[in-house]
Amino acid sequence: MKSFISTLTLLVIATQLSFASVDFETYFENKTLRIDYLLGGNAKEQTVFLQNLKKEAHWGGTTKNLVDTFDYGNFRFKLIDKASGNLIYSRGFGSLFQEWQSTPEAKTLSRSYYQVNVMPFPKQKAQFVIDYRNRDGVFVQLFEYEIDPSNYFILEETAMKVKYSKIMGKGEVNKSIDVAFIAEGYTQEEMGKFRADVERVAGYVLNVEPFKTYANRFNIYALESVSEESGPDIPGKAIYKNTVLNSTFYTFDSERYLTTSDIKTMHDIAANVPYDHIFVLINTEKYGGAGIYNYYTSCSSDHKLSREVASHEFGHGFVGLADEYYTSGVSVEDFYNLKVEPWEPNITTLVNFESKWKSMIEEGLVTPTPRTEEYNDKVGLFEGGGYMSKGIYSPVRDCKMKSNNKDEFCPVCQKACERMLKFIIGE
Ligand SMILES: [Zn+2]
Repeated sequence: MKSFISTLTLLVIATQLSFASVDFETYFENKTLRIDYLLGGNAKEQTVFLQNLKKEAHWGGTTKNLVDTFDYGNFRFKLIDKASGNLIYSRGFGSLFQEWQSTPEAKTLSRSYYQVNVMPFPKQKAQFVIDYRNRDGVFVQLFEYEIDPSNYFILEETAMKVKYSKIMGKGEVNKSIDVAFIAEGYTQEEMGKFRADVERVAGYVLNVEPFKTYANRFNIYALESVSEESGPDIPGKAIYKNTVLNSTFYTFDSERYLTTSDIKTMHDIAANVPYDHIFVLINTEKYGGAGIYNYYTSCSSDHKLSREVASHEFGHGFVGLADEYYTSGVSVEDFYNLKVEPWEPNITTLVNFESKWKSMIEEGLVTPTPRTEEYNDKVGLFEGGGYMSKGIYSPVRDCKMKSNNKDEFCPVCQKACERMLKFIIGE
């Protein structure tokens, strides 16, 4: 009987272990598989159009946490080992395409946006799957494709050789957060300024908790991609510049929304170094930026609020945090379905508040919590967030994800940041 129990216990432990972790060496080479495609459609539907597959020299990600445990993002991709049927890699992600789907234009027009997913290079045949999150918050399969690692149509050339330098960090690649800063709107003569800007802007992000605590786990690269002309497009002022990523203000006709849609070139440049996240640094004094989860972060280099914008956008891009504001205008409509719990960790519709920060609210605190000075330092349930003043709640009266007045993330956002940091460094 005794031996029977211990065998059973061992069996249970073994099952749990195999569920919890995928062995990198068994399934992957320490290189990147990059899959390029177009995401096209309109407000009602979306389709994937495959472009090509690439094998890239560096794998910058973790070799430990291969299967996603966050369930963030409006999309996700999965890699399933063909022979065993095991899920061997997955990540959630966002896209400009999905944001565009919430604009009025998408009701009457179809568009496509370039999209790239990167993952470690599989040793054996694997099924690549893309899911999208429908209006009910449920993932639905959108696309699948069998990857044969021996397929000689998988491209291996270096797409774009770019001079780069390591600005800071000495950590081992697979145990660090590698951030590839890409020069956008910098001419050859401005590369000295770019390197100084990277050091300064990375410093802004790494000076905010919990990134500050993990600062020595970051490797920061400056990729000197050269633009013909200086600064991004400002269509609303009829200013157009020939730049390497063709970045622009007035994305979706929102003046401060500063983005690039040239995801292909962005990844071609980033591929020169191992990376976990891409930060597009845009050479301008004008206020703006963007951050989309597991897609990229961008911000203007020289506005007086670049310090605030850089860490806020990194909160979106690297961690998947939501905007906690609800007063300033955005171009998207009905971005959140109030009948569904949003996937972002720092807002709630109360559909499943237990899964969010409910346990962090002190006993007896009034909820909904009034947005008054009395509750300044309290984690509570403050109505307003995610661009809506009613029906969505955020954790504090003010947070970095709400306004530029606050120089720190709230405890709920900090906890989410720390969880992401640990996942990426493989702890
Ligand atoms: Zn927050």
